[in-house]
Amino acid sequence: MPAVSPTVSFELYPPRTPRGAETLPATVARLAAVQPEFFSVTYGASGRTAETSGALLAHILEHTSVAPIAHLTCVGASEQHLDEVVTGLIRIGVRDFLALRGDPPEGEPDWRPHPAGYTTASELVALLRRVEARELAGSEDTASPLSIAVAAYPGGSYDEAGRPLIEPHTIQALRAKQDAGADYAITQVFYEPASYAAFVQAARDAGIHIPIVPGIIPLTDPRRLRRLESLTGVPVPQSLLDHLDSATDPEERYARGLAAGAALVRGVLDAGAPGLHVYTFNSAGPSLDLLAAAGIRTAADTH
Ligand code: FAD
Repeated sequence: MPAVSPTVSFELYPPRTPRGAETLPATVARLAAVQPEFFSVTYGASGRTAETSGALLAHILEHTSVAPIAHLTCVGASEQHLDEVVTGLIRIGVRDFLALRGDPPEGEPDWRPHPAGYTTASELVALLRRVEARELAGSEDTASPLSIAVAAYPGGSYDEAGRPLIEPHTIQALRAKQDAGADYAITQVFYEPASYAAFVQAARDAGIHIPIVPGIIPLTDPRRLRRLESLTGVPVPQSLLDHLDSATDPEERYARGLAAGAALVRGVLDAGAPGLHVYTFNSAGPSLDLLAAAGIRTAADTH
C-alpha cells in the first residue's frame, strides 16, 4: 500500500445524464487536486456502462496523474468474453482492477450467472491472475504485476447484546477472493466504526491478511442514505436519520452530516483502517469537506 497514511481514494461513476456529463470533468479536477491514491470507476450491470466507464477511465488517464481502477463484473459475460476484456485492458496498460461479481440488471431480483460465465468474484480474480501470467510473464512488466481489489461487507446489524453481526458467508467469500489472488478489499457502506472493527477482526480470525479499506460516504444527505439503504440492505441508524432530519435548515443539516461523517472516519482510523475510499456520488464538495472535517491530510498537503 502507498506512502501517505491514511491513503485516500475516490469512487466515481460514469455520468447518467447530460448535466452529469457536463459537470464531471470539473469534479474530477477538484478531486484530483488533493492527489488521491486512485479513482475507481464503477461498471454497470450487464455491461451497460461499458462505454461510458471506458470513457471516464480514459478521461482520468488523459487529464490527471491519478491512477484509475477499473471495476469489472461477471454479469452477463462468458468466461471467454471476460478473458478478452481483461486481456485488452492489460494490453492498453491498465494494471489496477476491482473484481466483482456484480449486481443483477435492473428489474431482475436475483443474480444469475451467464451460462458459460462465473458465479463469484473469486473466479474473476483467478482469471485476472491467469491472464496476468499469460500476458506479462517474462516481460519488463513482471515487476509491476496487477493490483486486484475486491469487495467486502461489514453490514450494519447487531445482535441482542448490541454486538455487530457478521454474516459468515461474507467472510468465506472474502477468504476465497484472497486465496484466488486479491491484494486488498474495499468495503461496502457502513455507519458505525464497530461494524468495521468487528468485520476486520472476523476476517483476521479467518486467516484473511489483506488490507481492508473502509468505503465511506459523506453523511450529509438523508435522502441519499435512505435510497442507499434500499439498494444495499445496510440499515442506516435511525438516530443518524433523526439527527439529520431535525436540523432547522440545509446548512445545519450539512454541518451535522459532516460531523457524523468525521466521527465515523476517526473511528475507523482508530480501529486501524489503512486508508479511506470515499464514495463521492460524483460530487467533490461533500467528499472534500468530509476529509477536512475529519482532519485528514491528503498527499497534496504533504508536498
Ligand atoms: P462475491 O464475493 O462473489 O459474493 C457474491 C455472493 O456469493 C455473496 O453473497 C457471497 O457471500 C457469496 N459467496 C461468494 N463466495 C463464497 C464462498 N466461498 N463461500 C460462501 N459464500 C460465498 N456492482 C456493480 O455492478 N458494479 C460496480 O461497479 C460495483 N462496484 C462495487 C464497489 C464496491 C467497493 C462494493 C463493495 C460493491 C460494488 N458493487 C458493484 C456491488 C457488487 O457487485 C454486489 O454487492 C454484488 O452483489 C456482490 O459482488 P461481490 O464481488 O462481493 O461478489
